[in-house]
Amino acid sequence: MQTTFRLDELTGSERHAKPWMKVTPAIITIGIIAAFAVHGRIAQPAHYNDFADQSALFGIPHAGDVLSNAGFALVAIWGWLALRPHRSSDRLRAGWPGYRLFLIGLFLTAFGSAYFHLAPGNGRLTWDMLPIALAGAGLLVGVRGDTQPVSKTNPGSKTNIEAILLGLYAAASVAWWVLTDRHGAGDLRPYLLLQVLPLILIPLWQSIYRAPRTDRIAFAAAMALYVLAKLAEVLDHPIADTLGFVSGHTLKHLLATAATAAIVWGLTRRFAGDGRPTAYTCTISE
Ligand SMILES: [Zn+2]
Repeated sequence: MQTTFRLDELTGSERHAKPWMKVTPAIITIGIIAAFAVHGRIAQPAHYNDFADQSALFGIPHAGDVLSNAGFALVAIWGWLALRPHRSSDRLRAGWPGYRLFLIGLFLTAFGSAYFHLAPGNGRLTWDMLPIALAGAGLLVGVRGDTQPVSKTNPGSKTNIEAILLGLYAAASVAWWVLTDRHGAGDLRPYLLLQVLPLILIPLWQSIYRAPRTDRIAFAAAMALYVLAKLAEVLDHPIADTLGFVSGHTLKHLLATAATAAIVWGLTRRFAGDGRPTAYTCTISE
């Protein structure tokens, strides 16, 4: 007989979440959607495309904002090379469809964002938003697959469908903004939902289903860096005026890259000392 269940890295205890805890993420998600609905349309700030970085390098305009995207591609390649060989492993199978989407989105972000920052404007912004939305969707599906209790049959089967559905939602959320923006009333709410949900649901899932400590540390670091990145984005001009050599938005790209690196680092740690039982899932044959 083969029994599949989950072990906690630290306690070694089988994971049992109380029923009321299991429904908390759904209730919070519905609450956020309701809050967005009540709030009404959320538009892009009027001067969003007016970035502080005016540096030029080898004929590249806004060189700081353009070139600071390279790290996204490097982190994505690192993640792909380090994780893909383990995609069928018990430690990654359930999360891989999501993490794969995350890494693809991250890789495309490097190019989409660089293309946008060469000549910032709402027309090109789509190509910045789309891969970011895909990466956010992938992250949600990946961590969800990792943290939800697995079934006895093919634990990865559901997350493939979830990755496709949430990937389609990500594309639709950007399409919604494009369509509404063309009519002079751009609405970012569906897109922002994908930015907000990972920040709330990931720590919640990790707590409810007692994710391994390394995962929690990696995501806590990623979230702290992401908050700093958002802060740097808002302070684009003041940071450029104060520091001179770097703008807030360039710094945002670098901090966001560090956040994604923390996530990939956390995932690769599962395979650091191969053979040790540091994984989420253990399969026991009797
Ligand atoms: Zn940017």
